[in-house]
Amino acid sequence: MSERYFAAKSKDMNTRRKFLRQTLLGSLAVGNAGRLFDQLDINAPNVKNAFPVVISTWGPNIKANAAAWQVLSSGGYALDAIETGIHVPEANPEDTSVGYGGYPDRDGHVTLDACIMNEKGMAGCVTFLEHIMHPISVARKVMENTPHVIMSGDGALQFALDQGFKKENLLTKEAKKAWDLWKIEAKYEPVINVERHDTIGMLAMDMQQRLCGGCSTSGLAFKMHGRVGDSPVIGAGLFVDNEVGAAVCTGLGEMVLRTVGSFLVVEEMRRGKSPQKAVEIAIKRIVKKYPEQSKDAQVAFIALDRKGRHGAYSIHPGFNYVLYQDGENRIIESTSLLDK
Ligand code: ASP
Repeated sequence: MSERYFAAKSKDMNTRRKFLRQTLLGSLAVGNAGRLFDQLDINAPNVKNAFPVVISTWGPNIKANAAAWQVLSSGGYALDAIETGIHVPEANPEDTSVGYGGYPDRDGHVTLDACIMNEKGMAGCVTFLEHIMHPISVARKVMENTPHVIMSGDGALQFALDQGFKKENLLTKEAKKAWDLWKIEAKYEPVINVERHDTIGMLAMDMQQRLCGGCSTSGLAFKMHGRVGDSPVIGAGLFVDNEVGAAVCTGLGEMVLRTVGSFLVVEEMRRGKSPQKAVEIAIKRIVKKYPEQSKDAQVAFIALDRKGRHGAYSIHPGFNYVLYQDGENRIIESTSLLDK
């Protein structure tokens, strides 16, 4: 081939490289990294956008999902949807693993963990909080009204009271009865899928494609006083990255804390995995790392990407979740790695 061909070709390639470099830098410079990411990535262009959408852990949270959907379907902000939705189980005395009515720790204290994260990557968390019915709202105040991310224990309570929250007794008669019964044997062991409702983890994307998430729990029933689980820990119990997707989980928090589970799910989506593939990778990682503990313990993830596609997976059968999308709110049984 002629020298002229090579010269022309190489000029052509140089121009293309320059163009690509300029496009890349230009996109980053105008804060357009999200759009650029879409082009490079992950989500094939034929994947349709499917939002607004809200997804929550556990079937009984269908009412929480419906409350969140009301906000989303009227054009509201995903963060408001999360807060409104999570208020439902927090105020429900029959939900024994979240807020009011939650089972206490082994010393009889109802101690609550919660966190919230918005589309800008800002986060607020409360851990080991007592006497406040809506820890998700305190977490939001930590995010919005302080320079901090986590407030804990008495300090978190004091902060909540300063912000106008009411101090309440959250230990219901039924929860106290369960604690009295537990004390007879005082066995400290995780139980899989207790009554099929547990921590609420919720992810929502609004009409403006803003992705937010939240998580609220009273943690493991009859836990050691002072124990904090994965649910209020960003990266473990919840992670949101508006450029990629979000993940939240439920189950034995210690296994999730040690593997930074929700962050792992989001990073897998960043590397191009679908939400379903990403949650499967995280569950397999946990089981591979802790094969013995996994025999008796449940962990489950749900995930959403920025197109509105979702995924769900658990170690054992029995986990279900609620998806509100295209105007329909439905409970879906999750697939699992092990078959019992
Ligand atoms: N992950 C929560 C915790 O370990 C409990 C749960 O989801 O059931 O505190």
